[in-house]
Amino acid sequence: MPLVTLNEILPAARNEARAVAAFNVANLETLLAVFKAAEEENSPVIIQVYQRLFNDERAELIAAMTAKLAEKTAIQIVLHLDHGTSVEQIKKAIKIGYTSVMIDGSQFPLTENIELTSQAVEIAHKAGVSIEAEIGHVPFGNGKVELSSSEEAVKFVSHTNVDALAISIGTAHGFYKEAPCLDIKRAREIGAGVSIPLVLHGGTGVPEEQLKKAIAYGVTKINLATELQDLFLRGAACELKRNEKKFMPIDLCFKPVEKRIIEYSKIKIKAFRQATFSS
Ligand SMILES: [Zn+2]
Repeated sequence: MPLVTLNEILPAARNEARAVAAFNVANLETLLAVFKAAEEENSPVIIQVYQRLFNDERAELIAAMTAKLAEKTAIQIVLHLDHGTSVEQIKKAIKIGYTSVMIDGSQFPLTENIELTSQAVEIAHKAGVSIEAEIGHVPFGNGKVELSSSEEAVKFVSHTNVDALAISIGTAHGFYKEAPCLDIKRAREIGAGVSIPLVLHGGTGVPEEQLKKAIAYGVTKINLATELQDLFLRGAACELKRNEKKFMPIDLCFKPVEKRIIEYSKIKIKAFRQATFSS
């Protein structure tokens, strides 16, 4: 089936208190592994591509491969631009076949974020593409966490008409030095204030119990980038080491790596889908 938007899969997931995994792929092998995992689990999946890959042909080539894979399957696949930086980049993503985009104005004050996001929403919706935006700030590297508030979320959603909202409740991008402690009370307040699907960036390394609580309060899309990409690179390094003295054809070297990523992705898809909350 053709690629779908977030709107075909996330609102239903939020109603049923489950989440859909969003995997950051960066090449053929990671794309194929995530696709196979979703097929094996018969589950919808969000395939996302980080904005840097839009600086050359990569994002477009991944889009063509993803559309081809989607043609062959009955599972719903969303192809999403992750951390879009500008309206121009949103336009480019739509032009090359992305069915969903994120505009990230989280580094700006709320008013500017609303302004930028509103422009991007208009463009995306005109093209039939779904759009995610972020309030508060989920940091990269040593950046500072800025938590999102319920008041901000209500204001932001009513002013922008965005389809999904990334919130900052204690996660960060990259590996954690120690396991994070999510602000679940904040998630509950935000979830009570806005009914659209909420998004959690920095899903790598967050204890499953915490994720399940966040899902119960409306987190519906969980982004996984660091762990998947690290698994790919370390897997490849491990294969090379194992075959140190021999030539390894690229496809054969990546085969066992692909298998590991399929297993990893299936575990995440299952965990988010089966999330139930009891307390
Ligand atoms: Zn992110």
